[in-house]
Amino acid sequence: MEYQLPRLTKMWTHLERQAGGKVKGMGEKQIEVDKRILRTQIGVLKKELESVRKHRKQYRNRRFSVPVPVVSLVGYTNAGKSTLLNQLTGANVLSEDRLFATLDPTTRRVQMKNGSEFLLTDTVGFIQKLPTTLVAAFRATLEEISESSLLVHVVDISHPLAEQQIDAVEKVLAELDVSEIPKFMVWNKVDKVTDPEKIKLEAERREDIVCISALTGEGLLEFCNAVQEKLKGSMVPVEAFVPFDKGELLSTIHQVGMVEKTEYTENGTFVKAFVPLRFARLLTPMRQLCKS
Ligand code: GDP
Repeated sequence: MEYQLPRLTKMWTHLERQAGGKVKGMGEKQIEVDKRILRTQIGVLKKELESVRKHRKQYRNRRFSVPVPVVSLVGYTNAGKSTLLNQLTGANVLSEDRLFATLDPTTRRVQMKNGSEFLLTDTVGFIQKLPTTLVAAFRATLEEISESSLLVHVVDISHPLAEQQIDAVEKVLAELDVSEIPKFMVWNKVDKVTDPEKIKLEAERREDIVCISALTGEGLLEFCNAVQEKLKGSMVPVEAFVPFDKGELLSTIHQVGMVEKTEYTENGTFVKAFVPLRFARLLTPMRQLCKS
């Protein structure tokens, strides 16, 4: 709408032509009316965006209270992000417990066979030549990306302009200042390409690429393993002694982290694991206990 606003001039000249040129200025008036309508609508949308922003912020704050790592799907529009989200969680959705009933509709909880879990969240689809006013409008939604533990760049590798789409996404990501967050790429829709083997070989040649088909489910296990491997990189190693009366902490470690070793003793459990930084802080008293 902001794009349209200064470009309305030529739209109503036909009114003047219809009236045989007698009522000059008729088109002019209509432009003013249209501009007013557009401005009102822009105002309404801006208010809505602001409320979306507040809403998502609340979701994020609630999510923070649970130290599960958040993995964000980014990618060009139509790359298959929502299909991947649904495919991954469709079979694994657990009955909603209260903790996660607070998740927004674009975030799902993925639980792996080994017990650990992460939250997978869909973000807006990127498009080429995103006008700056639009980037500003979406910034609220994009803020989400900068708070994730891991970014997964989903690419429609069957698309003839895949390379350009990758560039467009990378460009927006660069604007968001998220270079610190670990990232890997997923080449989706391998079921659709003419020579899947060639694509897979190429992916192997480059680093940090997993080939999948969100539609058929091919490669999803590799995808989950890659997520885990990468998340491990964003976690810190801890060794702690958890007394028996803090048993719930032990199960949280299993849920949000990656346990390497557990040893049961008379007084509690010794555990060696990788956990998210925020959670490691919670364990600090027990880590000290471990040292002494
Ligand atoms: P998003 O915009 O990134 O969320 O993309 P969607 O998940 O909505 O997918 C866009 C279209 O691509 C849909 O019609 C999907 O059915 C299709 N699609 C997604 N993944 C695959 C895939 O692995 N193979 C094929 N053939 N189609 C897919």
